Amino acid sequence: LMQLFRPLDLLGWVYRTIRQGLVDMAQMFSLIDTEVEVEDKPGAPALKVGEPSIIFDNVTFGYDDDRTILNGLSFEVPAGSTLAVVGPSGAGKSTIARLLFRFYDPGSGRILIDGQDIAQCQQDSVRASIGIVPQDSVLFNDTLAYNIAYGAEDADETTVEQAARDAALMPLIERLGDGFETMVGERGLKLSGGEKQRVAIARTLVKNPPILLLDEATSALDTRTEQEILGTLKRLARGRTTIAIAHRLSTVADADRIIVLDHGTLRESGTHSELLSRGGLYAEMWAQQAQENREVEEIGE
Ligand code: ADP
Ligand code: MG
Repeated sequence: LMQLFRPLDLLGWVYRTIRQGLVDMAQMFSLIDTEVEVEDKPGAPALKVGEPSIIFDNVTFGYDDDRTILNGLSFEVPAGSTLAVVGPSGAGKSTIARLLFRFYDPGSGRILIDGQDIAQCQQDSVRASIGIVPQDSVLFNDTLAYNIAYGAEDADETTVEQAARDAALMPLIERLGDGFETMVGERGLKLSGGEKQRVAIARTLVKNPPILLLDEATSALDTRTEQEILGTLKRLARGRTTIAIAHRLSTVADADRIIVLDHGTLRESGTHSELLSRGGLYAEMWAQQAQENREVEEIGE
C-alpha cells in the first residue's frame, strides 16, 4: 500500500488530504470490504465546518434494494457534544459511520454537518472534517513518526511530538532505542493492540478534525488497557463533536446522549440515567452486561 502512495509524496498538500482520506477509508474498508460508490455532483462545493453539529434527518438506507438497514433514522449531535450509539450486533451502527463518512449516500433523508447536506458537498471535504478511530487500526511498515504523521507529512516535529504526548505514547517511545524513528508494522516492531490504538489517536490529533468517529475503538482491548485508552479518547474528544459507537455500554455511560439502535430503528434515546430508569432495551442490555462482568470476575477468582 505504501509503495503505491510513495510517488504522491511530491505532489503537495492536496494529495496529502486525499491520502489521509485513504487511511480512514482503509480503516473503514477493513470492516466491510466494498468499493466507494458515491460521486460528487458537478461543481459541488466543499463542506465548510464552523460549528460542527451533525443531523441525521429521516435517513433510510440499504446496501441492496431488497433490504433496508436504516429505517427513517433521525438524531442530532450538537456541536462539541458526544453521542453514543449502542445496540445489538448487526443493528446498523457502523452503517451510520459509513454514511457520515460518505461511503454511501442515503436512499432518502439527509445528513447535515453544520447545516450542509453532505451528499451535496465534495466527498473529500467531508472526509477531511472527520477523524476515525476504528476497532483495529492500520499500521504501515515505516517509522513511528511516519505512522503518526501519516497523511500530513508537512506536520512539523513539534506537532508530531505533542500528538504523541497527548496520546500517551511517550513512555513507549522512550523505551525504544530509536525513539520516533523506530520501524513498526508487520516488518518492524509489532505493537500491542493498545499501542496501535494510541498511534491511531496520535494520528487523529495531527489531523485535528472537528468531528470524531469512534467505532468500537476499545472493544478489541483487555479491560485494563480499555480503561487507559478511554481516558485518552476523552481528551481527544474534548472540543470536538463525537459519535462513539460502542458494544460495552459502560464505556459510553457518560456520553451527553445515548441512542439505542435495533434493526436500523431508533428504539430509545436519553442519558444513561434516563435510559436506566425507563426500564427498556437499554436497561435490559445494561443488566445483562453487568451480569456477564460478574461471571467473568468469578471465573477470574
Ligand atoms: P453493526 O455495526 O451495528 O454491527 P452494521 O452497520 O455493520 O451493524 O451492519 C448492519 C447490517 O448491514 C448487517 O446485517 C450487515 O450484515 C449488513 N451489511 C453491512 N455491510 C454491508 C455491505 N457492504 N453489504 C451488504 N450488507 C451489509
Ligand atoms: Mg459495527
